[in-house]
Amino acid sequence: MAIPEVEEAAAAKETFWLNPDRLPFDQAEKELSFTMEDILDAQRRIRRFAPFLAACFPELEESAGIIESPLQDIPAMADSLWKDWGMTGQDGIQKGRVLIKLDSELAVAGSVKARGGIYEVLKVTEELAFRAGILKETDDYSRLKEYREFFSGYTIQVGSTGNLGLSIGIMSAAIGYRAVVHMSADARQWKKDLLRSKGVIVKEYEGDYGEAVAEGRALSDKEETSYFVDDEHSSRLFLGYAAAALHLRKQLEEKGIPVDCDHPLFVYLPCGVGGAPGGITLGLKYVFRDAVHCFFAEPVQCPCMLLGMAAGEGERISVQDLGLTGRTIADGLAVGRPSGLAAGNMKPLLDGIYTVKDSYFLDWMRRLKETEGIVMEPSACAAFGGLRALAGKKGTAYCREQGLLEKSARATHIVWATGGSLMPEDVREEYLQTHLQ
Ligand SMILES: *Cc1c(COP(=O)(O)O)cnc(C)c1O
Repeated sequence: MAIPEVEEAAAAKETFWLNPDRLPFDQAEKELSFTMEDILDAQRRIRRFAPFLAACFPELEESAGIIESPLQDIPAMADSLWKDWGMTGQDGIQKGRVLIKLDSELAVAGSVKARGGIYEVLKVTEELAFRAGILKETDDYSRLKEYREFFSGYTIQVGSTGNLGLSIGIMSAAIGYRAVVHMSADARQWKKDLLRSKGVIVKEYEGDYGEAVAEGRALSDKEETSYFVDDEHSSRLFLGYAAAALHLRKQLEEKGIPVDCDHPLFVYLPCGVGGAPGGITLGLKYVFRDAVHCFFAEPVQCPCMLLGMAAGEGERISVQDLGLTGRTIADGLAVGRPSGLAAGNMKPLLDGIYTVKDSYFLDWMRRLKETEGIVMEPSACAAFGGLRALAGKKGTAYCREQGLLEKSARATHIVWATGGSLMPEDVREEYLQTHLQ
């Protein structure tokens, strides 16, 4: 039983897979590992820590310690894309409103990892502090600033292609922990330099992300006072990402944008191991139920979630097993094996996954800069491919089948910009000057 999308993905071709196992939310909810209460609990924890974060990071003073990102219209970019993909036809999908969620500008970490990564460090910190009797839930958490000495007795370690290491390393070091980041070969030099400048220990590996994680985990397990952030299995990361949906609901309300059966919301999320897009999708489905349609984006050389979900193999399959290189300019997505936790929870929820050639990441990066003056990293640009996938033959058929075509003029599309603000000027320029075939 060959699945055409799996064959296309294995041949490194662009493809668009629609999830045949997706269920109406009422039914899907019963199969999920997390409840709405879990997501609300995460949000409350983030709020408890806000006074402490505001005291640690001057850049968070204005937002009183809340790390959030703007949601903004991108009409010029949208027009340019709609024009390319012919989304003006009578019987096809109509132009909707296109917004960008600028997680590329999240404070402290400059990427979506500020949500999951930082949340996990805060959760661990709270547990340690409760256990040691230096903190109660009702305290003003800014008192934790006095306990750097206490936290320096603990180590936090993580394996990363770059951005997760940045978020966990920067936050751990700020609290006082000894922080060790195990970086895969894909990680860019500037990310390692930045971490070292903050006092984080960076270990480099020749192999890919999976190897850096395995090594880091083994080393961490040897030390009793070391905690390993496990991107592939962590419920905490997942919930930190999920909390994004609660804030997005408020932003949409503030803009007067309705989301309901008559006003569908389409969200496009770049996917690596699946934690960030998976957690965000979980949150969005709890908030907007069947009115939201979520799609993941992957590079053609790393379609790990597509293979894991479409072939039903979850984390047992890697892109290398199918002869793909796993190499991509979208370093944040350079992951060969999906998270089983994410794949499992996405089975009844996710609408689909599309893949994108590397050359488009850079084309869309340039175009966004030209049309809107916004710069984000190549990984984040994968999100734009969602509009193309939806406007294409398969996307249009999906919309017709779901009764979405006639509502498409009232639809809202959110392109999730997952990273980029910490990119140094020269790296930014190098990407903008690079033209791939
Ligand atoms: C990590 C990352 C993603 C994807 O997150 P996963 O949890 O690995 O799926 C997307 N974009 C950027 C810029 C990232 O750093």
